[in-house]
Amino acid sequence: SGLEAGDAALIEHRSKVLGPAYRLFYEEPLHLVRGEGVWLYDNKGRAYLDAYNNVASVGHCHPKVVEAVTRQLGTLNTHTRYLHERVVAYADRLLGTMPDALGHMMFTCTGSEANDLALRIARSFTGRQGVIVTSLAYHGVTEAVSEISPSLGGFVPRGPRVRLIPAPNALTVPPAEQGAKLAADLAAAIAAMRADGIEPAAFIVDTIFSSDGLYPDPAGFLKPAVDLVRAEGGVFIADEVQPGFARTGDAFWGFQRHGLVPDMVTMGKPMGNGFPVAGVALRPDLVEEFGAKARYFNTFGGNPVACAAGMAVLDVIEEEGLQDNASTTGAFLKQGLKAIVAGRDDIGDVRGAGLFLAVECVEGGAPNARLAGHVVNHLRRNGVLISATGPGANILKIRPPLVLRRAEAERFVEAMQEALAAH
Ligand code: PMP
Repeated sequence: SGLEAGDAALIEHRSKVLGPAYRLFYEEPLHLVRGEGVWLYDNKGRAYLDAYNNVASVGHCHPKVVEAVTRQLGTLNTHTRYLHERVVAYADRLLGTMPDALGHMMFTCTGSEANDLALRIARSFTGRQGVIVTSLAYHGVTEAVSEISPSLGGFVPRGPRVRLIPAPNALTVPPAEQGAKLAADLAAAIAAMRADGIEPAAFIVDTIFSSDGLYPDPAGFLKPAVDLVRAEGGVFIADEVQPGFARTGDAFWGFQRHGLVPDMVTMGKPMGNGFPVAGVALRPDLVEEFGAKARYFNTFGGNPVACAAGMAVLDVIEEEGLQDNASTTGAFLKQGLKAIVAGRDDIGDVRGAGLFLAVECVEGGAPNARLAGHVVNHLRRNGVLISATGPGANILKIRPPLVLRRAEAERFVEAMQEALAAH
């Protein structure tokens, strides 16, 4: 391998101190020391085009975010039990991006905590326990949300309260049937749950189905399932940790593409461009009783530094027109990828919305993890970073910072062409 002795020693020591639960990306792990815009630099000064990081969504180390955080950190950092204008202003600003029905904003530090809080509120509001998720969903790491994260694998207990439904499938289900199929699967899961004496409290989905393999289309297909869970007395939670904050180009939030209004919206990852900021937007009536009885305090959630980071991110998205860029550069990138895979029988599909794209590697209709693994590692050796996802680990996931421009998209397509040609 191309690993230096220094990096090999670091890998060994890392595993000694961090233990066995941690994983590194790539056959040749990457030792990064610096980031700027869409570029990452390793310890030898080599540049990599980051086409995977949706946390540094407005670009690595964006000066405006760095400045806002630094300034606030040097002024005051405390919690939400003191009056501070910034948390109120930031909540206002976020709620301004939401449908009117979502009138409160509660802050956490991670997407996991946001989903955990949303579940607690859904269960306390409905007085019910059941939750339905898609079969390869990922919603986080706490005890409660790992139960609803089947992508963690069979080792993680799911518990009797959680039921899975198949994720959409772009290859086997015609687009026009996607919505009816999802709703029918949800109805069956609710019936099965009820047969065991469990009532549905919530249906929660990542509105672009990231860990299931990325299924954005046709926009609107989520609506029948959401209508159904409400008719059955449950609430709908949109997990916007991945599609939120303008990534899809079509809308600021993923659920808006589906023409629906969630009962709760959870968010995180790109919210602070790397500074831990996350939260839940929700219908006020859902939290009325919970708020009176349970009270809520999160030591770091909503602190002035976190809110400064979050506010700066919203400013940058607006000032730099990043939703538009996600739309136009995303369309350009998708077109470029479609052009280079045309005629290949080992690529089943190129799909996506905005700057969130997937290329599905197949072999005789079945998942082709070997090709996906080859492309991911070839790109990495060639200075371009992506990863693979989905049930067969065969779906290339392309998710660059939203500041990716046309020239970099061209460079990406060239590198993909080289990787595919080398297979
Ligand atoms: N929901 C989704 C859809 C996610 O992708 C993630 C993180 N990968 C989470 C929740 C959990 O967020 P965090 O890692 O910040 O806890």
